[in-house]
Amino acid sequence: MAVVQQQGLLCSEWLKKPKKLLIDGNWVDAESGKTFETYNPATDEVLTKVAEGSKADVDKAVRAARKAFESGPWSKMATHERARLLYRLADEIEKRADEFAQIETLDNGKPIKESRWVDVVQVVETFRYYAGWCTKLEGETTNVNSNFFTYTLREPIGVIGQIIPWNFPLLMAAWKLGPALACGNTVILKPAEQTPLTAIRLGELIMEVGFPAGVVNIITGFGANSAGEAISNHMDIDKVAFTGEDKTGKEIVKASTGNLKRVSLELGGKAPNIVFADADLDAAVKGAITGIFFNQGQVCCAGSRLFIENSVHDEFMTKLTERVGKMRQGNGMDEKTQIGPQISKEQVERIMHYVGEGKKDGAKLVCGGERPQGELAKGYFVQPTIFDGVNNDMKIAQEEIFGPVLSVIPFNTMEEVAEQANKIQFGLSGAVWTRDLKRAHKLASHIKAGTIWINCFNVFDPQMPFGGYKMSGYGRELGKHSIELYTNIKSVWVNLAD
Ligand code: ADP
Repeated sequence: MAVVQQQGLLCSEWLKKPKKLLIDGNWVDAESGKTFETYNPATDEVLTKVAEGSKADVDKAVRAARKAFESGPWSKMATHERARLLYRLADEIEKRADEFAQIETLDNGKPIKESRWVDVVQVVETFRYYAGWCTKLEGETTNVNSNFFTYTLREPIGVIGQIIPWNFPLLMAAWKLGPALACGNTVILKPAEQTPLTAIRLGELIMEVGFPAGVVNIITGFGANSAGEAISNHMDIDKVAFTGEDKTGKEIVKASTGNLKRVSLELGGKAPNIVFADADLDAAVKGAITGIFFNQGQVCCAGSRLFIENSVHDEFMTKLTERVGKMRQGNGMDEKTQIGPQISKEQVERIMHYVGEGKKDGAKLVCGGERPQGELAKGYFVQPTIFDGVNNDMKIAQEEIFGPVLSVIPFNTMEEVAEQANKIQFGLSGAVWTRDLKRAHKLASHIKAGTIWINCFNVFDPQMPFGGYKMSGYGRELGKHSIELYTNIKSVWVNLAD
C-alpha cells in the first residue's frame, strides 16, 4: 500500500490507522472480517483498506439505532442540547477543514480548492443551518370545534438509512445527517464504496463532540447484495434516503416495499443550460464551464445539454473552446488543478463509451474526447470534451454520462428550446442566460425541474431546497423541506364535551 507522503499533508498518520465501522458508539471490524481497498483516482494507488460491512453489520447497527431512538438519548433530548451538539460538530469540522479537504481530494480526486472552499464550507454551513432547526420544530393547534382541543405533533420518523454517492462524499453526508439528526432521528449512514474516508473521519468527530452511542452508525461497504441492499430492505428501518443513479433508485424503491418504509430519492439529471443571444456571453461561457466541468462533470445537476441561440453560436463556441483549452487538468492535490480525475476506471470506460456514441451519431467533436497521456495516464483522467451540432435525440443528449462531456445543441426560437428542454426523462435542474426578464421567468416556470438558475449555475445554499421532477427522484432536501422528509405529523384530538 502506497503511504501518501506529501509536504503539508495533515492526514498521512490518520490514513495509516485501521478504518472500521461505527456501531453503537464503537469502532468495530466487520462481522465477516472482510475489508476493501479505496483508491486515489489521480494515481490508481491504494490509499487504505476499509472494513467491508454487510447485512450482519447493518443488523447490529439497526439494533443500536433502534435502542438509541426508543430509549431516547437523542429523540427525547432537550432540543437546545441537540442543537448544541450539531453546532459543536460544525465547529470541529471547520477547525479541521484543511484535513477534511485533503482526505476528500485523495479519495475522490476533486481539486483541493473545491474540496476546501466548496465542499467543506458547505458541509459546515449545512450542519449549522440544521442545528438552528432543532429549536424551531413545531406542531400546530387547530380550531375544529369547541367540543375538541386539537393539535398536531411533529415527531421524528425513527431509524433512518442513508445511502450516499461518491461525487460529494462529505457534503452528501451533511445533507443527509443534518436534517435527520435535527429532527431527532437515529441513523445508519452508508458512504459509497469508492469514497468511504471522509465519512469515517466525520464519525470520529461525531463521537468526540459527544453524540450518544447509536445515534449515528456508519457502515462502509458495497451496495447491491451487500450493506446498501441490507439497509433498503431492512424491516426495522423506517425511512431510507438515497442519492445516486436512477437505476439504483429503482432497486431501492423495490427493496423498500417489505415494510413500506418512507423513501426519498435524489437521482440523475441532464440539465438544459440555455444561452440566448442577448445574454452576457462571457458570464454564460463561465457558467457553461462550471455547469459541465465542475467536479469533473460528476454532478447530478450538471448542465450537460448546452442550448445556444444560433445567432451567437460561433462567437460563443470560440470563447468557450478557448477557455476550456486553457483548463489545467491534473492531480487534485495540486492547488493549480482545475479539473481532476474521474472517480474510477469504470467511470472512465463509461465516459469513453459515450464519446464513441457521440461520434457514431454524427456529433462534431470540438475538443477533448481522449484520455490524457504522460504523467496523467496512470490516473482516471478524461479530457474535458465538447460535442457541437448535437441533436437532442442523440444518446449523448438523452443519457446521463456523469463525466466531463458537453453536448452543444444550437436553437433558433424560444418555443423550440422550451420544447426541447423538457424532452428528457430527467428534471433536476436547468439554467437560462438572458437579459430579458420576461423570458427568463417564463422559462423558469416552464422547465420541469427542481432547480432553475437564471444567469448563474451550480449555486447552492442549505436554505434552498434541492430535488427532482420526473425520473430525477422525489422529496426535497435542504431548507425546511428536509424537515418534512424526516418527521411524521400526528393529529391529537382531546374531547372537551361535557
Ligand atoms: P454509481 O453506479 O455511480 O456508483 P450508485 O447509485 O450505484 O452510483 O451508488 C450510490 C450509492 O448506492 C453507493 O453508496 C452504493 O454502494 C449504493 N448502492 C448501489 N447499489 C445499491 C443497491 N442495489 N441497494 C442499495 N444501495 C446500493
